[in-house]
Amino acid sequence: MFDYHVHTTFSYDCNLPLAESCPAAITAGVTEIAFTDHVEHEPGDEGFGYYKAEDYFRAIDEARAQWGDRLTILRGAEVDFNERTADDVRRFMERYGAEYDFVIGSVHYGDDRQIIFPDYFADRSLDEVFAPYFERIRLAVESGLFDTIGHLDLPKRYAPQSHRHYDPLRYRALLEPVFHAMIARGVAFEINTSGLRQTPKTSMPGPAIVRWYADAGGRLITTGTDSHAAKTIGAGLETTLAMLPLCGIDAVASFRRRRPTRVPIADLVSASASAR
Ligand SMILES: [Zn+2]
Ligand SMILES: [Zn+2]
Repeated sequence: MFDYHVHTTFSYDCNLPLAESCPAAITAGVTEIAFTDHVEHEPGDEGFGYYKAEDYFRAIDEARAQWGDRLTILRGAEVDFNERTADDVRRFMERYGAEYDFVIGSVHYGDDRQIIFPDYFADRSLDEVFAPYFERIRLAVESGLFDTIGHLDLPKRYAPQSHRHYDPLRYRALLEPVFHAMIARGVAFEINTSGLRQTPKTSMPGPAIVRWYADAGGRLITTGTDSHAAKTIGAGLETTLAMLPLCGIDAVASFRRRRPTRVPIADLVSASASAR
């Protein structure tokens, strides 16, 4: 199983050291892990200026020396993106992009430099949150900077009780151009399993969106738990590997040095069964 979205102490919001997460991944049956710490360029963000790329690369090299024989450890990042910070993000990627195996582009901010947390919904309808959000996702894809898109319908995770009537069908017309841009550029999106264990109780995105993407001709999917704690590494990946074939996806993407290969889900499932 591939867990391609895991945070470490290099993220401002995480105190999970590599010394704990690598053994936890091996125990959970994860065979490839990408440590994807937050890279923030939004000046008001709590994590602004926290990330240190060179220190991170050194720590990954040390982890590889210790656990690399049992776990494939990838250099990853989760880079926040919006149109206001795009120039800074581009400069970061020009400097460091080639150093990574795998880079997630994630939209965490909405209008007026506000982060999409429950307060953001107070004076906005669901449409007023989701329509600009999916537009920013499209810009992230078209930037050409990223290998995959993080938590494709994130606002559903932070929607307060008054805004829980999210139905992806309502946004299908906005998602179609996103899919076409992804397919044209070879950009994947992730199945982020944190939604399964949190409020939405479904992955981000859920099966309907995955099916529409497959129907549009898309086949490039990554999987990740968005773990900030050792106990959630690998959580929900088996459920996801069972879901994907039902949605028309028969492989998950593996990355080395920013290049994907598609690994058949049947091979992953049989390997994990024989490892038991
Ligand atoms: Zn994120
Ligand atoms: Zn994350």
